[in-house]
Amino acid sequence: MEGRADLHMHTVHSDGTLTTRELMQRAKEVGLTTISITDHDNTIGIGEAVELARSMGIVVIPGLELSASVGDLDIHILGYFFDHTNRNLLEYLSFYRKERLKRAERIVEKLNDLQIPLKLESVLEQAGTGSIGRPHIASALLEEGLTESYHEAFFKYIGFGKPAYEKKYQVTPHEAIELIASTGGLSFIAHPGNSIDEKVIVDLIRQGVDGIEVVHPSHSPERVAYYRGIAGEYFLLASGGSDFHGGKKNDHEVFGKYFIPEEQVEMMRSRL
Ligand code: AMP
Ligand code: ZN
Ligand code: FE
Ligand code: FE
Repeated sequence: MEGRADLHMHTVHSDGTLTTRELMQRAKEVGLTTISITDHDNTIGIGEAVELARSMGIVVIPGLELSASVGDLDIHILGYFFDHTNRNLLEYLSFYRKERLKRAERIVEKLNDLQIPLKLESVLEQAGTGSIGRPHIASALLEEGLTESYHEAFFKYIGFGKPAYEKKYQVTPHEAIELIASTGGLSFIAHPGNSIDEKVIVDLIRQGVDGIEVVHPSHSPERVAYYRGIAGEYFLLASGGSDFHGGKKNDHEVFGKYFIPEEQVEMMRSRL
Protein backbone atom coordinates (compact mmCIF):
# COMPACT_ATOMS: atom_id res chain seq x y z
CA MET A 1 0.00 0.00 0.00
CA GLU A 2 1.29 3.42 -0.86
CA GLY A 3 1.82 5.94 1.94
CA ARG A 4 -1.08 7.84 3.44
CA ALA A 5 -0.65 11.19 5.17
CA ASP A 6 -3.36 12.74 7.37
CA LEU A 7 -2.22 16.22 8.35
CA HIS A 8 -5.14 17.44 10.47
CA MET A 9 -6.22 16.02 13.86
CA HIS A 10 -6.78 17.07 17.47
CA THR A 11 -6.00 15.71 20.95
CA VAL A 12 -6.85 16.58 24.55
CA HIS A 13 -4.40 19.49 24.14
CA SER A 14 -7.29 21.28 22.42
CA ASP A 15 -10.82 19.99 21.85
CA GLY A 16 -10.06 16.37 20.91
CA THR A 17 -10.76 13.46 23.25
CA LEU A 18 -7.67 11.24 22.79
CA THR A 19 -4.22 11.68 24.29
CA THR A 20 -1.26 12.01 21.94
CA ARG A 21 -0.33 8.37 22.46
CA GLU A 22 -3.89 7.09 21.93
CA LEU A 23 -4.27 9.17 18.79
CA MET A 24 -0.99 7.90 17.36
CA GLN A 25 -1.97 4.31 18.13
CA ARG A 26 -5.29 4.80 16.29
CA ALA A 27 -3.44 6.41 13.38
CA LYS A 28 -1.19 3.34 13.11
CA GLU A 29 -4.17 0.99 13.29
CA VAL A 30 -6.02 2.71 10.46
CA GLY A 31 -2.95 2.52 8.21
CA LEU A 32 -1.65 6.10 8.18
CA THR A 33 2.08 6.44 7.52
CA THR A 34 2.52 10.18 8.19
CA ILE A 35 0.47 12.37 10.50
CA SER A 36 0.42 15.90 11.81
CA ILE A 37 -1.30 16.69 15.10
CA THR A 38 -2.78 20.15 14.72
CA ASP A 39 -4.20 21.26 18.03
CA HIS A 40 -5.89 24.66 18.19
CA ASP A 41 -3.38 27.31 19.30
CA ASN A 42 -1.29 24.72 21.13
CA THR A 43 1.97 22.91 20.38
CA ILE A 44 2.40 21.26 23.79
CA GLY A 45 1.91 17.73 22.44
CA ILE A 46 4.48 17.94 19.66
CA GLY A 47 7.52 16.97 21.74
CA GLU A 48 5.86 13.78 22.95
CA ALA A 49 4.55 12.95 19.47
CA VAL A 50 7.97 13.32 17.87
CA GLU A 51 9.46 11.17 20.63
CA LEU A 52 6.82 8.42 20.23
CA ALA A 53 7.03 8.49 16.45
CA ARG A 54 10.41 6.75 16.38
CA SER A 55 9.34 3.71 18.37
CA MET A 56 5.92 3.50 16.75
CA GLY A 57 7.12 3.60 13.17
CA ILE A 58 5.00 6.51 12.03
CA VAL A 59 6.21 9.88 10.74
CA VAL A 60 5.08 12.96 12.69
CA ILE A 61 5.25 16.45 11.22
CA PRO A 62 5.04 19.34 13.72
CA GLY A 63 1.61 20.90 13.23
CA LEU A 64 -0.71 23.56 14.58
CA GLU A 65 -4.11 25.11 13.81
CA LEU A 66 -4.04 28.83 14.45
CA SER A 67 -7.22 30.83 15.03
CA ALA A 68 -7.53 33.99 12.98
CA SER A 69 -10.40 36.12 11.78
CA VAL A 70 -11.45 38.83 9.37
CA GLY A 71 -14.42 40.68 10.84
CA ASP A 72 -16.94 38.02 11.78
CA LEU A 73 -15.37 35.35 9.60
CA ASP A 74 -13.28 32.76 11.45
CA ILE A 75 -10.28 31.65 9.41
CA HIS A 76 -8.12 28.75 10.56
CA ILE A 77 -4.52 28.61 9.41
CA LEU A 78 -2.69 25.29 9.57
CA GLY A 79 1.05 25.44 10.14
CA TYR A 80 3.56 22.65 9.43
CA PHE A 81 7.30 22.03 9.71
CA PHE A 82 7.86 25.04 11.99
CA ASP A 83 10.30 25.06 14.92
CA HIS A 84 8.05 24.06 17.81
CA THR A 85 10.62 25.24 20.36
CA ASN A 86 10.69 28.81 19.02
CA ARG A 87 10.27 31.19 21.98
CA ASN A 88 8.31 33.81 20.14
CA LEU A 89 5.83 31.21 18.98
CA LEU A 90 5.45 29.69 22.45
CA GLU A 91 4.91 33.11 24.02
CA TYR A 92 2.29 33.99 21.45
CA LEU A 93 0.43 30.70 21.97
CA SER A 94 0.48 31.06 25.73
CA PHE A 95 -0.93 34.58 25.40
CA TYR A 96 -3.63 33.38 23.01
CA ARG A 97 -4.71 30.53 25.30
CA LYS A 98 -5.11 33.02 28.16
CA GLU A 99 -7.34 35.08 25.88
CA ARG A 100 -9.35 31.91 25.13
CA LEU A 101 -9.79 31.42 28.88
CA LYS A 102 -11.00 35.01 29.33
CA ARG A 103 -13.47 34.51 26.53
CA ALA A 104 -14.77 31.30 28.15
CA GLU A 105 -15.31 33.35 31.32
CA ARG A 106 -17.27 35.95 29.34
CA ILE A 107 -19.41 33.22 27.75
CA VAL A 108 -20.15 31.68 31.16
CA GLU A 109 -21.16 35.15 32.47
CA LYS A 110 -23.52 35.61 29.52
CA LEU A 111 -25.01 32.16 30.14
CA ASN A 112 -25.51 33.00 33.82
CA ASP A 113 -27.24 36.24 32.78
CA LEU A 114 -29.55 34.05 30.71
CA GLN A 115 -30.32 32.05 33.87
CA ILE A 116 -28.22 29.09 32.73
CA PRO A 117 -26.29 28.20 35.90
CA LEU A 118 -23.12 26.87 34.26
CA LYS A 119 -20.01 27.07 36.40
CA LEU A 120 -16.61 27.92 34.96
CA GLU A 121 -15.17 24.94 36.88
CA SER A 122 -17.24 22.51 34.77
CA VAL A 123 -15.79 24.04 31.62
CA LEU A 124 -12.26 23.89 33.00
CA GLU A 125 -12.81 20.24 33.86
CA GLN A 126 -13.76 19.53 30.23
CA ALA A 127 -10.76 21.42 28.90
CA GLY A 128 -8.16 19.95 31.24
CA THR A 129 -4.85 21.58 30.42
CA GLY A 130 -5.73 22.02 26.76
CA SER A 131 -6.65 25.18 24.90
CA ILE A 132 -10.25 26.10 25.86
CA GLY A 133 -12.92 26.41 23.21
CA ARG A 134 -16.64 26.40 22.71
CA PRO A 135 -16.71 22.59 22.34
CA HIS A 136 -15.70 22.36 26.02
CA ILE A 137 -18.52 24.73 26.97
CA ALA A 138 -21.01 22.68 24.95
CA SER A 139 -19.78 19.48 26.61
CA ALA A 140 -20.00 21.08 30.08
CA LEU A 141 -23.58 22.26 29.39
CA LEU A 142 -24.47 18.74 28.32
CA GLU A 143 -22.74 17.14 31.29
CA GLU A 144 -24.61 19.44 33.69
CA GLY A 145 -27.95 18.68 32.03
CA LEU A 146 -28.32 22.30 30.91
CA THR A 147 -28.80 21.38 27.25
CA GLU A 148 -30.53 18.49 25.47
CA SER A 149 -27.60 17.90 23.17
CA TYR A 150 -24.13 19.11 22.25
CA HIS A 151 -25.48 20.71 19.08
CA GLU A 152 -28.35 22.39 20.88
CA ALA A 153 -25.76 24.23 22.99
CA PHE A 154 -24.44 25.89 19.82
CA PHE A 155 -27.85 26.35 18.27
CA LYS A 156 -29.42 27.98 21.33
CA TYR A 157 -26.54 29.71 23.11
CA ILE A 158 -22.95 29.76 21.91
CA GLY A 159 -23.09 29.44 18.10
CA PHE A 160 -22.28 32.52 16.01
CA GLY A 161 -24.88 35.26 16.59
CA LYS A 162 -26.55 33.40 19.48
CA PRO A 163 -27.11 35.15 22.86
CA ALA A 164 -24.04 33.80 24.66
CA TYR A 165 -21.70 34.03 21.65
CA GLU A 166 -18.37 35.76 22.21
CA LYS A 167 -15.67 36.42 19.66
CA LYS A 168 -12.17 35.11 20.18
CA TYR A 169 -9.27 37.53 20.48
CA GLN A 170 -8.85 38.91 16.96
CA VAL A 171 -5.72 38.00 15.04
CA THR A 172 -5.50 38.56 11.29
CA PRO A 173 -4.63 35.68 8.97
CA HIS A 174 -1.65 37.78 7.90
CA GLU A 175 -0.29 37.74 11.46
CA ALA A 176 -0.81 33.97 11.67
CA ILE A 177 0.94 33.39 8.33
CA GLU A 178 3.88 35.63 9.35
CA LEU A 179 4.23 33.86 12.69
CA ILE A 180 4.51 30.46 11.00
CA ALA A 181 6.90 31.79 8.36
CA SER A 182 9.11 33.37 11.05
CA THR A 183 9.61 29.95 12.65
CA GLY A 184 10.53 28.27 9.37
CA GLY A 185 7.15 26.68 8.67
CA LEU A 186 4.57 26.49 5.90
CA SER A 187 1.03 27.83 6.28
CA PHE A 188 -2.16 26.45 4.78
CA ILE A 189 -5.77 27.69 4.57
CA ALA A 190 -7.74 25.17 6.65
CA HIS A 191 -11.04 23.69 5.37
CA PRO A 192 -11.83 26.54 2.92
CA GLY A 193 -15.17 24.81 2.26
CA ASN A 194 -16.38 26.27 5.56
CA SER A 195 -17.52 29.61 4.11
CA ILE A 196 -14.28 30.95 2.63
CA ASP A 197 -14.94 32.17 -0.89
CA GLU A 198 -12.44 32.59 -3.70
CA LYS A 199 -11.95 36.30 -3.03
CA VAL A 200 -10.80 35.56 0.53
CA ILE A 201 -8.58 32.75 -0.77
CA VAL A 202 -6.92 35.15 -3.23
CA ASP A 203 -6.39 37.66 -0.39
CA LEU A 204 -4.73 34.98 1.73
CA ILE A 205 -2.48 34.00 -1.19
CA ARG A 206 -1.39 37.65 -1.51
CA GLN A 207 -0.59 37.58 2.19
CA GLY A 208 1.82 34.72 1.65
CA VAL A 209 -0.02 31.52 2.48
CA ASP A 210 1.86 28.49 1.09
CA GLY A 211 -0.98 26.11 0.50
CA ILE A 212 -4.59 25.09 0.83
CA GLU A 213 -6.29 22.18 2.55
CA VAL A 214 -7.84 20.33 -0.35
CA VAL A 215 -8.95 17.10 1.35
CA HIS A 216 -11.29 17.56 4.34
CA PRO A 217 -14.47 15.75 5.50
CA SER A 218 -16.53 18.90 4.85
CA HIS A 219 -15.47 18.95 1.15
CA SER A 220 -17.55 17.13 -1.47
CA PRO A 221 -15.63 15.46 -4.33
CA GLU A 222 -16.52 18.50 -6.49
CA ARG A 223 -15.04 20.84 -3.87
CA VAL A 224 -11.89 18.73 -3.64
CA ALA A 225 -11.48 19.01 -7.42
CA TYR A 226 -12.17 22.75 -7.26
CA TYR A 227 -9.52 23.37 -4.57
CA ARG A 228 -7.06 21.16 -6.43
CA GLY A 229 -7.64 23.45 -9.40
CA ILE A 230 -7.01 26.55 -7.29
CA ALA A 231 -3.81 25.00 -5.92
CA GLY A 232 -2.61 24.39 -9.48
CA GLU A 233 -3.61 27.83 -10.71
CA TYR A 234 -1.82 29.73 -7.92
CA PHE A 235 1.15 27.38 -7.42
CA LEU A 236 -0.03 26.45 -3.94
CA LEU A 237 0.83 23.29 -2.04
CA ALA A 238 -2.08 20.95 -1.33
CA SER A 239 -2.69 19.44 2.10
CA GLY A 240 -5.44 17.35 3.59
CA GLY A 241 -6.67 15.34 6.51
CA SER A 242 -9.53 14.15 8.67
CA ASP A 243 -9.82 16.91 11.31
CA PHE A 244 -10.32 13.96 13.67
CA HIS A 245 -11.44 14.96 17.19
CA GLY A 246 -11.64 11.47 18.67
CA GLY A 247 -15.32 10.74 18.43
CA LYS A 248 -16.80 14.20 18.94
CA LYS A 249 -18.39 14.32 15.52
CA ASN A 250 -18.83 10.55 14.97
CA ASP A 251 -15.50 10.74 13.28
CA HIS A 252 -14.10 7.39 14.47
CA GLU A 253 -15.64 5.56 11.49
CA VAL A 254 -13.96 7.79 8.94
CA PHE A 255 -10.52 8.11 10.55
CA GLY A 256 -8.01 6.78 8.03
CA LYS A 257 -10.20 7.66 5.04
CA TYR A 258 -9.09 11.28 4.60
CA PHE A 259 -5.50 11.50 3.50
CA ILE A 260 -3.11 12.76 0.86
CA PRO A 261 -0.36 10.71 -0.83
CA GLU A 262 3.16 10.95 0.59
CA GLU A 263 4.31 12.65 -2.64
CA GLN A 264 2.40 15.75 -1.59
CA VAL A 265 4.25 15.78 1.73
CA GLU A 266 7.51 15.49 -0.24
CA MET A 267 6.49 18.56 -2.24
CA MET A 268 6.04 20.43 1.03
CA ARG A 269 9.47 19.38 2.23
CA SER A 270 11.08 20.59 -0.97
CA ARG A 271 9.34 23.96 -0.62
CA LEU A 272 10.94 24.54 2.80
P1 AMP B 1 -13.83 28.03 19.14
O1 AMP B 1 -12.48 27.89 18.53
O2 AMP B 1 -13.79 28.03 20.63
O3 AMP B 1 -14.61 29.17 18.57
O4 AMP B 1 -14.64 26.69 18.77
C1 AMP B 1 -14.83 26.38 17.42
C2 AMP B 1 -15.28 24.95 17.28
O5 AMP B 1 -16.62 24.81 17.79
C3 AMP B 1 -15.37 24.50 15.84
O6 AMP B 1 -14.14 23.98 15.41
C4 AMP B 1 -16.44 23.43 15.90
O7 AMP B 1 -15.88 22.19 16.31
C5 AMP B 1 -17.34 23.89 17.00
N1 AMP B 1 -18.54 24.57 16.49
C6 AMP B 1 -18.65 25.87 16.09
N2 AMP B 1 -19.91 26.15 15.71
C7 AMP B 1 -20.62 25.01 15.87
C8 AMP B 1 -21.98 24.64 15.67
N3 AMP B 1 -22.89 25.53 15.21
N4 AMP B 1 -22.35 23.36 15.95
C9 AMP B 1 -21.45 22.47 16.41
N5 AMP B 1 -20.16 22.75 16.62
C10 AMP B 1 -19.74 23.99 16.37
ZN1 ZN C 1 -11.38 21.53 17.00
FE1 FE D 1 -10.59 24.26 12.01
FE1 FE E 1 -9.23 21.28 13.15
